[in-house]
Amino acid sequence: MTSRLHIRVEGIVQGVGFRPFVHLLAERLNLAGWVLNSSAGVEIEVEGERVQEFLEELRQRPPPLALLEQVEAEPLPPIGAQGFQILASSEDEAPITLIPPDVATCPDCLREMNDLADRRYQYPFLNCTHCGPRFTIIERLPYDRARTAMKAFSLCPDCAREYADLRDRRYHAQPVACPHCGPRLELIEGTRHWDGEEALERSRRLLEDGRILAVKGLGGFHLATDATCEEAVDRLRRRKGRPAKSLAVMVPSLAEAREIAELSPLAEELLVSWQRPIVLLPRREGTLAPSIAPDNGRVGVMLPYTPLHHLLLEGFTALVMTSANESEEPIVASNEEALMKLEGIADAFLLHDRPIIQRLDDSVQVIAGARPMMVRRARGYAPGPFRLVQSFPPTLACGPELKNTFALSKRDVLFLSHHIGDLQNLETYQHYQRSIAHLEELYALEPEVVAHDLHPQYLSTRYALSLPARRKVAVQHHHAHIAAVLFEAGETGPAIGVACDGTGYGEDGAIWGMEFFLSSRGSSKRLGHLAYVPLLGSEEAVRQPWRMAASHLFASVGEGALPLLVRLFPQPSPSTWEVLWRQWRAGFHSPPTSSAGRLFDAVSALLGFPGAISYEGQAAIRLERLAEQGRHSPSIPLSLPLREGAPFLLDPSPMLVQLAERVVADEAIDRSALAFSFHLALTDAIVASSKRIRLEHSLSLVVLAGGVFVNILLLQMTQEMLEAEGFRVLVPQRLPPNDGAIAVGQAVTAFARLEEEGCV
Ligand code: ZN
Ligand code: ZN
Ligand code: FE
Repeated sequence: MTSRLHIRVEGIVQGVGFRPFVHLLAERLNLAGWVLNSSAGVEIEVEGERVQEFLEELRQRPPPLALLEQVEAEPLPPIGAQGFQILASSEDEAPITLIPPDVATCPDCLREMNDLADRRYQYPFLNCTHCGPRFTIIERLPYDRARTAMKAFSLCPDCAREYADLRDRRYHAQPVACPHCGPRLELIEGTRHWDGEEALERSRRLLEDGRILAVKGLGGFHLATDATCEEAVDRLRRRKGRPAKSLAVMVPSLAEAREIAELSPLAEELLVSWQRPIVLLPRREGTLAPSIAPDNGRVGVMLPYTPLHHLLLEGFTALVMTSANESEEPIVASNEEALMKLEGIADAFLLHDRPIIQRLDDSVQVIAGARPMMVRRARGYAPGPFRLVQSFPPTLACGPELKNTFALSKRDVLFLSHHIGDLQNLETYQHYQRSIAHLEELYALEPEVVAHDLHPQYLSTRYALSLPARRKVAVQHHHAHIAAVLFEAGETGPAIGVACDGTGYGEDGAIWGMEFFLSSRGSSKRLGHLAYVPLLGSEEAVRQPWRMAASHLFASVGEGALPLLVRLFPQPSPSTWEVLWRQWRAGFHSPPTSSAGRLFDAVSALLGFPGAISYEGQAAIRLERLAEQGRHSPSIPLSLPLREGAPFLLDPSPMLVQLAERVVADEAIDRSALAFSFHLALTDAIVASSKRIRLEHSLSLVVLAGGVFVNILLLQMTQEMLEAEGFRVLVPQRLPPNDGAIAVGQAVTAFARLEEEGCV
């Protein structure tokens, strides 16, 4: 019997070969009708005898990159339709289509690229319906070539035929291109130019010679150099002014990845996934230049994700592929900008003429036990959707000040932006505002609710307060951390919230960091925290970890710490220590803090971290590595006593005096054992605090959140010991433990409060 169905599909259904899939399926089942990209997703009408089979197939076996969020079918009276058509996109409805992320080059395209007989042999910009650039080239929705960075390249007859042929794997592939009609390579080296294959040849030669190349990629420029050549890596570090922070590397295949790092099956899966993130992996000694990651036991590894990368990597074991930007500025994206800003860093520029619409960094993941954990969410994942249980008024969550991301919601979908960076940098702040405007425009959104941090001076807060939205919601930083983890686990609380973090503005104006809460999505009540110590010299204390060591020693033994400090640290001079002691006592320029990040700094300094840090988290990263090395040495009993009260306090200062005394007493002491013992002591303290809260509130669900948990050793030990004590433990996974998740936490908090108030 003939029947007709109207089907609405929502989700990631544009730019993933959905319409040709529908067309072929309809033909196979002998159905008439049409399909079109609408702003809501994809609309389909099918008519014939096998419409139910069609619906079943669509639900069960969609194209590999499609993500079906919702499929609604509605019967209609048959109209005697003939044939099947793909109709032009409709633009009449309010957009809620999900933007497809960029997809790494697929195996079919790679085969063509390596096939001498293929017309795209060695073409660095080939792509198809199942791979290629998406988010980085989209100007507006619906996703069609005319609204992308490809609009300037008109299709040659061959490409046009493929684009229009339903049976071709490039059918309706918007970025389709070939050597005749698509983007072209160009190498600029001083006053000389090379094009096409010659540009590529010359680029490889330069890399072989240890030169530094600026390479235009998908979401911006990389600086590339031979990662196995110490001299080249050192030159890059000096020119870029990046003395120690780890550099990510790209390897041609898993074989080379195995050579430089230890790979678990999960790590391999992640490396070859179409998102192609940088994966932080335990490093093997030997192949890579030692200065790739001097502080870190891990190295960031990724596989090629564009045809150009594949071609460039040929014959190399590993290339450094680090984002090209001046420190804290957004990634360089246009040819002009690269030539201007990277002059003096790069020896040559490998450019192409396809504009980058959206700047996008590489994503970073780390493996925590049996699960991957996001560290930086950008290419491949952003602006991926999160489904909400109900619709809310359009909401903008402005995010934190550092490692900023922002979030936007429309009806029952929450979009988290890509990694933006540190807003204190003017260009990054402009990039932030432009990115918000771009996403608001793509989704035709005008936020009615704006969520922001409690800190009155954050640029994201000031931006939030300047907006016309009718409703503003201020959210405490660490509550936002916890709320984000509750949200991604689909939980509402109440739960024991444990924040182990660097810096967040507290409700009492102090700088919070390590906090214990009674948390639900809408709010957190603080039950305990790390005892306050002065942040000795404010921002200076963040830069110079030994200041925090001093602050803790002063807190425990007062002036008696002076002889210890003089023996522990060659710098500063004894008279300066006297000055610092007076500053500490007066509390001058030293706000109280319960920061866990600063505690790690203090311990790292006591165990030998010298001078000032050159990047955020450096001292803590060194300490984690030291502890990893000491995990099989006999541990030394250390503890953070819990002092009862409202709130209860964990006091780390006596433990730091103990550490200091041991180091002073025995120059040759095993510092790695001390580092590991410190991790153990902190884990014990978290477990003891959680047990105390369980006793009082009859709760056994614990949420772990905050940037310090990027420390995998700490995260895993804490999780395991809590589980051994009968707790159920939630940890971040798809969202980062660090401030990259704050915007989601802010949005979730705003939604919960609207619900509590009956506003939705
Ligand atoms: Zn492909
Ligand atoms: Zn062509
Ligand atoms: Fe934080």
